[in-house]
Amino acid sequence: MSGRYNIFMSDLVSFIRENHQFALDQIAAAARKVGRNPDDVKLVVVTKSQPVEVAQAAIQAGVRILGENYPEEGVTKIQSLPSQSGVEWHMIGHVQSRKARLVAEYFELLHSLDSLKLAKRLDRFAAKQDRILPVLLELNVGGEDTKAGWVVSDDSQSNRFLPDVRAILDLPNLRVCGLMTMPPLGTDAEDSRPFFQRLRLLRDQLVSLHPEADWKELSMGTSADYMVAVEEGATLVRVGSAIVGARRYKSEKEAL
Ligand SMILES: *Cc1c(COP(=O)(O)O)cnc(C)c1O
Repeated sequence: MSGRYNIFMSDLVSFIRENHQFALDQIAAAARKVGRNPDDVKLVVVTKSQPVEVAQAAIQAGVRILGENYPEEGVTKIQSLPSQSGVEWHMIGHVQSRKARLVAEYFELLHSLDSLKLAKRLDRFAAKQDRILPVLLELNVGGEDTKAGWVVSDDSQSNRFLPDVRAILDLPNLRVCGLMTMPPLGTDAEDSRPFFQRLRLLRDQLVSLHPEADWKELSMGTSADYMVAVEEGATLVRVGSAIVGARRYKSEKEAL
């Protein structure tokens, strides 16, 4: 570990511990407000584009689920930290086909499955690992060109989604657990609410179409809008900057 981080490690741990606790309290308040059990919401702390020391400090601060956007960056962190029981790593960013093996090997849950092609590759690599990989289907509820996921902003596009769902549900080494979305960037947390509602509605439709699958998880909400997401049924919220601070370096994608 670099000297600079040795000096500040304890400050970093308390900074993250405080922010983490604050976010947990906010989640609990949002859940109670709508009559939900706070225990039904899991907080994924996003450490993408942060040095490994930040992930280490988060674990020391009591964080149990870490989220990464880039498979290689995530695997580097996983490998450089001693494996700790009860600590899970989730992949939340777009996965290129050639990175499928890393995801199938190292991550507990993929939030961002966005194509049948990727699903088939993950299924093959998961089989080689002799495991079943839990996945969420990423839906592009805002219909933006810049976002990954199946576009479901109108019914004609949803027609392409449903055959893909059927094919993915048949893959033996993937287990579909629910849906994920990234709404269009708004100016206010409330701007995200209709998109979160739409994801929940789509989930309810999938439950009736495919009751054999488990559609329990709704991964939605970031630092900007996680309380609204919890009010709308999120079971997983993905919070980065509000807990670990501003990202230290630009990720490949954000640098574009
Ligand atoms: C970066 C990222 C987050 C976290 O964003 P913050 O604004 O730092 O909370 C959540 N989800 C995804 C998919 C991300 O890429």
